[in-house]
Amino acid sequence: SPTVFWFRRDLRLDDQPALCAAAQGAPGVVGLFVADDALLQPSGAPRRAFLAGSLAALDERMGGRLLVLHGRPETVVPRVAAAVGAAAVHAAADFGPYGRRRDQAVEQALAEQQIEFVRTGSAYAVAPGRVRKPDGTPYSVFAPFHRVWLQHGWRAPATSAAGVAFVDPGDVHAGRRYRIDSLAAPVPASTELPQPGEAAALERWQHYVSGVAGYGEDRNRPDLNRTSRMSPYLKWGCIHPRTMLADLARHRSAGAEAYRRELGFREFYADVLLHHPDSPRVSLDPVIDRLQWDSGPTVDRYLQAWKDGRTGFPYIDAGMRQLLAEGWIHNRVRMGVASFLIKDLHLAWQIGARHFMQHLVDGDVASNTHGWQWVAGSGSQAQPYYRIFNPIGQGERFDPDGDYVRRYVPELAGVPGKAVHRPWDLPGGLPDGYPAPIVDHAAERAESLHRWEQRT
Ligand code: FAD
Repeated sequence: SPTVFWFRRDLRLDDQPALCAAAQGAPGVVGLFVADDALLQPSGAPRRAFLAGSLAALDERMGGRLLVLHGRPETVVPRVAAAVGAAAVHAAADFGPYGRRRDQAVEQALAEQQIEFVRTGSAYAVAPGRVRKPDGTPYSVFAPFHRVWLQHGWRAPATSAAGVAFVDPGDVHAGRRYRIDSLAAPVPASTELPQPGEAAALERWQHYVSGVAGYGEDRNRPDLNRTSRMSPYLKWGCIHPRTMLADLARHRSAGAEAYRRELGFREFYADVLLHHPDSPRVSLDPVIDRLQWDSGPTVDRYLQAWKDGRTGFPYIDAGMRQLLAEGWIHNRVRMGVASFLIKDLHLAWQIGARHFMQHLVDGDVASNTHGWQWVAGSGSQAQPYYRIFNPIGQGERFDPDGDYVRRYVPELAGVPGKAVHRPWDLPGGLPDGYPAPIVDHAAERAESLHRWEQRT
């Protein structure tokens, strides 16, 4: 009888060891995706649209044989396995807090029917938990983790599973098939999403890696837009980092090395999450959660202004509007807008992290949580001082001609050059429709430092 392969965040056929394992010795494979409300409900429209597009591309590559069902995995997966008489369900291991809980429940439900749950590989080059100090404990700082991660090494990409014989879902009587397009919530027509799917991921990557020697030079310049934008594809596993690491090894340049280091960051954060499964809610450094944070109607108004990109700080507003328009923000600007929420508006980082998770196409619990914790001063990167980004200075430094701001803030489109970062100083006053700054940065910076000094 066939086996079942359960797709989760690995929506591809190439470099897919778990699928190869499912196919080995089996007359056919049922390719299953479960539309799980626990994951879908907190996902905003852009992420759902990208997911739906990637599933549609996968289904096409599988000759229309992807079985999509809606429901709780611990009910749906065993039902499908039983319906086809499978002896095993295969998947790649998931190391996130929800994924681990879910997989335990599924494993138990399968075991009750004597069906094996086999996990092969993960979404990482080195599975979280593998890189450890000589005494067996995990690393809490990136640099030593990175060294050991490089020494650990990883497998070469797996062979393509494109030849696998997928079972026609019409022959699987385990519930009504779910339409892939009903996964997608409507996105505003102006939203610009990346082309979803495995082929698009490979195409973008191959194009990018050919010029990767230049990575690093301009990676802090949101106006130049020269980072790879591979994050949504990595999030959904339209490409595996092994494929990318193998290509980077062939390129041997400082740029390739810098890029590999960023992939290492992604793996580090997944490792931290494995060892701190409550980190999406709780600061790694408990001091941060004990600082004084604001709440109430005034801050609710501030929070709304931040979400809408109407804080009156052009660089911050451009970032937040990029999030609404594209479901993505440049890394440098993510740091800036996060710092603004935490240190100028005095809101707890968890509030901002939740908003990001809803809107980011690449929203990933590990990278998002620890990106926010880092900005909050709680992350695993020990910092000797309480860092506060200047929302105006950051714009002038990383968007020196103001092109980034003008791209996303139409009210300021007519303001030339870097004057766009200080619209309140324009001779004609603030351009029509653009707000005055909602707070005074110098005062709020002093307030943040004061609260930090009062920490307990
Ligand atoms: P590139 O510069 O081309 O980097 C290549 C790849 O390396 C990325 O696709 C990503 O997988 C990885 N990478 C790069 N920088 C980081 C980093 N700092 N941490 C972890 N991985 C990294 N990244 C996410 O994938 N999902 C998130 O939800 C997320 N939330 C973030 C929240 C905050 C507050 C901050 C400061 C950062 C966050 N990041 C997140 C990390 C980073 O901003 C994005 O990975 C990056 O901007 C993606 O764009 P890119 O693919 O063009 O990056």
